[in-house]
Order: sequence, then C-alpha cells, then structure tokens
Amino acid sequence: MLDLKKDFPIFGENPGLCFLDSGASAQKPSYVIDFVADFYRKTYANIHRGVYKQSWETTVLYDKAREKTAEFLGVDSPESIIFTKNTTESINLVAYSFGETLKEGDEIIVSIMEHHANFVPWQRLAEKKSLKLKIAYIDRESLILPLENITKLITDKTKLIALSMCSNVLGTISPFVEVCKIAEEKGIKVLLDGAQYMPHHKINFKELGINPDFVVFSGHKLCAFDGVGVLYGKKEVLEEMEPFLTGGDMIESVSIEKTEFAPLPNKFEAGTPPIGAVISLLKAIEYLEGIGLDKIEEHEKTLAKEAIKRIKEIEGVHVFAPERISNGIVSFTIDGIHPHDIATILAEDNVCIRAGMHCAEPLITYLNQDSFARATFYLYNDLEDVERLVKAVKRCKEVFKL
Ligand code: PMP
Repeated sequence: MLDLKKDFPIFGENPGLCFLDSGASAQKPSYVIDFVADFYRKTYANIHRGVYKQSWETTVLYDKAREKTAEFLGVDSPESIIFTKNTTESINLVAYSFGETLKEGDEIIVSIMEHHANFVPWQRLAEKKSLKLKIAYIDRESLILPLENITKLITDKTKLIALSMCSNVLGTISPFVEVCKIAEEKGIKVLLDGAQYMPHHKINFKELGINPDFVVFSGHKLCAFDGVGVLYGKKEVLEEMEPFLTGGDMIESVSIEKTEFAPLPNKFEAGTPPIGAVISLLKAIEYLEGIGLDKIEEHEKTLAKEAIKRIKEIEGVHVFAPERISNGIVSFTIDGIHPHDIATILAEDNVCIRAGMHCAEPLITYLNQDSFARATFYLYNDLEDVERLVKAVKRCKEVFKL
C-alpha cells in the first residue's frame, strides 16, 4: 500500500482531513508546489519573447513540460502537444477548429456516459451545422459500454467519435483501444477524453498500437495546478485545422493585408499561456512517474474495492460501478437520503465527497436517478479513509433515523 499523505502539505495543514474528491481536483504534492514557488521567486519571466536569462530559462522549462507530456502519453511529436486551460477548452478547440471542416449531414458519435465537456460542444456544433449526433449507450445492468453499441452507429457519414476513456461517474472504462483501431481503418477521427484516465493509469499510445487523432486531459486532476489542460493532436490533423484563438505568439508574420500563422504548437497557443501551471504539470508527471502509475492504479483499486464491499453491506446503500473495478471512483446512493444531504453530513465528519449530477446529466437521467454521491480515492488515500467513509455513511443513516 502506498503511504503518501506526508508528500501532500494539505494533510499536514488540516489534521483529520479525509479527502475523497480527487475526481474533481487532486491535491498537490510539495514536490510540485515547492518547485513552482521557487520558480516564481527565482526565475519567472514570459516565454519566447526575451533573450535574457530568466525568459530563456522559463522557455526551456516550458518546452521541457511539452516534451515530458508527449513522453507521458507515448506519442512521438512534442509539437503536437497543445497547452490549453483545461479539458473543456481542449475539446472546445477541436469542436471549433475541426468542427469547421464538417458539413451538413455528417455524423458524430458520443457515448451516454460523457461529461458535459465532451457532450455540449458536439451538441451545439450539431445544431449549428445540421450534423447528426448519435449516442452510444452503456448497458444499464452491467454499466459497461459494449464496443458493439458504438460500432453499430458507424455509417459512411461518421466523421468523429468523441469518447471518454473513463466515466467520471461510474469509473467505467470505454473500449477506446478497439474504437481507435476500427476508426482508423474507416478513416474516422477519434477524440479521447482522458480527464479521468490519465491521472490513474499508465498509458502509452505507441505501445498500445494506436494513434488517436485527439487526446485531452486536465493538469489539475493529476496533481498539477489548475489552469493547464492538454490537447494532443495528430500532427497532420492539427496542421490542417484553423487556429482557435488568434493574436500574439501564434503568428509567423502579420501585415495589414494578411497574417501567416506560426507552425505547431504555437498556432494553437495564442497569448501568454499559463506558464506556472504548465511547469507544475512537468513536475506532477515526474512525481507520479516516480511513484509508478501502475502502482497508483493498484492502490486506488484496492481502496475502492474495499470501500464498495463495506458500504454495500450497509442496508439501503446502492453502489453504481461495473463489476470489474478499474480505479478509485465510487458513486452511491442511500435510500431515503438525497445525495446533497449525504455530502453535507459527511462534511461534518471532515469527509469530503461530491454530490449531484457530476456534469453528466444525460447519464444520470438514463440511469433513472436524479443524482449520486461520489467518493473518489487517489494515491494519497489509505484504508483509514475507507474506514472514515464507512463510519460517516453509517452516521448519515442515524441522522435520518433510517
Ligand atoms: N471530462 C471528464 C471525464 C471529467 O471528469 C472532467 C472534469 N470533471 C472534464 C471532462 C472537464 O474537465 P475540466 O473541468 O478540467 O475542463
């Protein structure tokens, strides 16, 4: 079992904190915080624009973050890594710029378990350009997404499959490897939303033998600071796309008549980027790789399995997870208690979970629910946190005299 609370100052500052909300945002280790604080004290300057030491050193760190991110994903070209604000912005960039190339009648496939970030941009694009948005459904009983439910929707009009690698509500892993292989054969583009996958699993696209057209994730769920997101895009696909934002740093030359855009990655990084957050991503990846993402995955699974087993024993508690647990996501309901009340009562015990629709309203509606309580375990949680959750859920029932 990993024993990492000491690496995360939030736990030292808040004795007794049982933090089970890493699915929303992860805590930050000293390894990341200290490096970035030091960087701001000693080095900070804007990138690319200066010939002096601080600007040059900041640019080196910024570029190193891009190289590290490419290596982390197992993709060849660092210039295909675009830094954005978050997963949401990465997806909107693709919906806007790649969306430009789509025509009336073209089809996009998403799954019912998408986060709104990977649903609303496509729904809007479909409305604006008269495209058809098709939904691949999960199985209501097993809560898994059968490959066939996606492939049966493919026609010769399908232009894009936008798919979450892991559901932020159920922890269900989608058959993304097979989808990429099938889509590539058929010339269909794929966007993988890795917001809930990248922080918890070892990934190497090259070793998996796939090269998705787009991959997106956020730094803040992966122990980096908030403010940085990643868009990986196949080089030739990004090169053909129009820029999303225009302005400084993304140009080659500007005249009164015409602007020539800069090559990748600058073409998609207009204006001053979130420099400190990007550098925090470099350090966060180093930190997670130092521990081992395979170890992190095993650790989370052990905690989630134990938590599920224990809370399921409590009468009236229902857990919504596939049989094969892949990560630390544990969504549940308690008969007779609204999830918002569950979260409020747990907070009194310093047990931090999240309740609501988790930005996945189509999924929650499809499952005939109105909301879920969700606990998420990450690398710094331990069996004591499982115990605290179980105890707090039991107290919740006592409060409601159930
Ligand atoms: N996709 C998934 C699967 C998510 O869990 C989230 C965050 N909850 C997002 C997208 C959006 O991420 P962000 O808020 O960082 O843009």
